[in-house]
Amino acid sequence: MRVLGIETSCDETGVAVYDSERGLLSHVLYSQVAMHADYGGVVPELASRDHVRKLLPLCRQVLDDAGLQLTEIEGIAYTAGPGLVGALMVGGSFAHALGLALGCPVLGVHHMEGHLLAPMLEPDPPAFPFVALLVSGGHTQLVDVQGVGEYRLLGESVDDAAGEAFDKAAKMLGLDYPGGPQVARLAEQGDPARYRFPRPMTDRPGLDFSFSGLKTFTMNTLAAATRGGDDSEQTRADIARAFETAVVETLAIKCRRALRETGRRALVIAGGVSANKRLREQLDTMACKEHARLFYARPEFCTDNGAMIAYAGWQRLRAGQRDGDRILAVPRWPLDQLPSLMTECSA
Ligand code: ATP
Ligand code: MG
Ligand code: FE
Repeated sequence: MRVLGIETSCDETGVAVYDSERGLLSHVLYSQVAMHADYGGVVPELASRDHVRKLLPLCRQVLDDAGLQLTEIEGIAYTAGPGLVGALMVGGSFAHALGLALGCPVLGVHHMEGHLLAPMLEPDPPAFPFVALLVSGGHTQLVDVQGVGEYRLLGESVDDAAGEAFDKAAKMLGLDYPGGPQVARLAEQGDPARYRFPRPMTDRPGLDFSFSGLKTFTMNTLAAATRGGDDSEQTRADIARAFETAVVETLAIKCRRALRETGRRALVIAGGVSANKRLREQLDTMACKEHARLFYARPEFCTDNGAMIAYAGWQRLRAGQRDGDRILAVPRWPLDQLPSLMTECSA
């Protein structure tokens, strides 16, 4: 089955074709980051309009790259949520219009399920069951995964997501959005011994996270340095390093706890922050010690993309799931409300 995947939940237009026999055939991504930069954040109305402008050309490009005719598409998957409602509506309307024209099934996919399954597009994919750490701009969650749609939430952030904390710390350090990669780059020059930031919520049991305190800690450390007449690049690098180390270690402590509590032997990390090199290294070391294995997607499939939507869509389309004639746009949508494929199949 050849599935066209469409991602428009926020400020990235992603389109891809996944073929169940041949794997991923092609994928393209257009980021609106430059357009929103002047406003200091994503402007929802501008995002929707830009998705309208970009979807058709990107769709043509992805088919060209794959050497396919439009009529060779056998299923369409689009991001139905969570995300910006206007942006979601653009992808949903496009997918349904195309599905109607081609007479093929259409399905709205959960954006976080897309992230979660993205590592399965890699040559050495994880097998169920596993523990997943979803770390992105809007989510920080630990999930016990037994199969597609078999998601048990183990813990999540009670305030900011890890990616959001990276973005806010970046802003304080005078870096551009998206801040994660920039903080990581600056941190490479940082002295790891200069500052020590807290590891929030690691001193008590449980698998929840809190990252808003680290943001305040960053602000206070910067302010204290500036008051002392120190606003050097080296100090900013040292702060970036301390911040990154604190986030990474906190995530590693909770992942280890989740592996021990569930007894799982595989840890999957997904979402934009899973592209972080230090996080990958530290989790790899931790997983080894726990006799478990770490899995992640290539960096471009950690952040938003169409490939993960095509793949997650195929998993559900092949089990017979369809939207019917309703376009889905669900701005808030808990992952554990998704139907299980195990029950769907046996029903
Ligand atoms: P969500 O998926 O929760 O709806 P989103 O789609 O905005 O949110 P993603 O696209 O998955 O999030 O990831 C973007 C986030 O990942 C940003 O916060 C960005 O700063 C962060 N990020 C990307 N690369 C890195 C990196 N190398 N290190 C740390 N953070 C990173
Ligand atoms: Mg994004
Ligand atoms: Fe995302």
